[in-house]
Amino acid sequence: MEYQKIHACPNDFILYIHEFEEMSKCPRCGVSWYKVKDYKECSIHENSKKGLAAKVLWYLPIVPRFKRLFANGDDAKDLT
Ligand SMILES: [Zn+2]
Repeated sequence: MEYQKIHACPNDFILYIHEFEEMSKCPRCGVSWYKVKDYKECSIHENSKKGLAAKVLWYLPIVPRFKRLFANGDDAKDLT
């Protein structure tokens, strides 16, 4: 199943995408992007941030899921 990992504010104010992508702390609550102050490589922001994100959202896009469901003729009939 296809998914995206998106870094998020621990208090759920923002997602670190678009204009927030390069920020290292939340502009609403001021809580750091970092979980701990170790500086291991991060798989998502390997070119900018280092360390572990405080919170990660797993996003499952709906379109690829529908494509898979509609790929089977019998399931497609039941879905429409
Ligand atoms: Zn916040």
